[in-house]
Amino acid sequence: MLNLVLFGAPGSGKGTQSAKLIDKYGLHHISTGEVLRDHIKRETELGKIAKSYIDNGQLIPDDLMISILDEVLEKEAKGKKGVIFDGFPRTIPQAEALKELLGKRGTDLHAVVGLEVPEEELVERMLNRGRETGRADDNIDTIKKRLDVYHNQTSPLRDYYTATGKYMPVNGTGNVDDIFSAISEGIDALD
Ligand code: AMP
Repeated sequence: MLNLVLFGAPGSGKGTQSAKLIDKYGLHHISTGEVLRDHIKRETELGKIAKSYIDNGQLIPDDLMISILDEVLEKEAKGKKGVIFDGFPRTIPQAEALKELLGKRGTDLHAVVGLEVPEEELVERMLNRGRETGRADDNIDTIKKRLDVYHNQTSPLRDYYTATGKYMPVNGTGNVDDIFSAISEGIDALD
């Protein structure tokens, strides 16, 4: 199996690059943000809880998020060549849980691809996406909160995964295909 985390700030291009990775490597894509947005759309109980956090730019509590991921893995990951985790983990406890969830399924995490993009560009991209797709949390107030949350709670994962030798930084600015080539080179060099 090839299990990858696509890591980066909101607006760093995780969704765009995931779509290309799925095509090239035949991996299964799990975006926790998409899972939650789907619950909101279907107006489930979980969707109601998730909406209150997402609208505020806050993270869903770890215990809840980890149990959701466990369920999604159980339903979707069996027999797959590997999984791209997009938007998970976002905290150190989530990273520890991911190791355990993969371990109990007899597999491991192979690499963490970190898309590195300067802050001004992140804001610009999210505002554009908000205009183009109507995504509710892509408005300037929520974007600012999401970036704060990223700096405080998620960015420490960069050091966490660097220490395990799994972090693979990629320049996430410029042409989408060039960024994808850089990611592919890194993946193809994994042993
Ligand atoms: P995303 O589509 O990955 O940008 O996620 C959108 C929103 O969903 C985030 O701002 C969080 O409120 C919530 N979310 C997604 N993934 C997670 C996660 N791993 N942990 C906690 N909250 C999450």
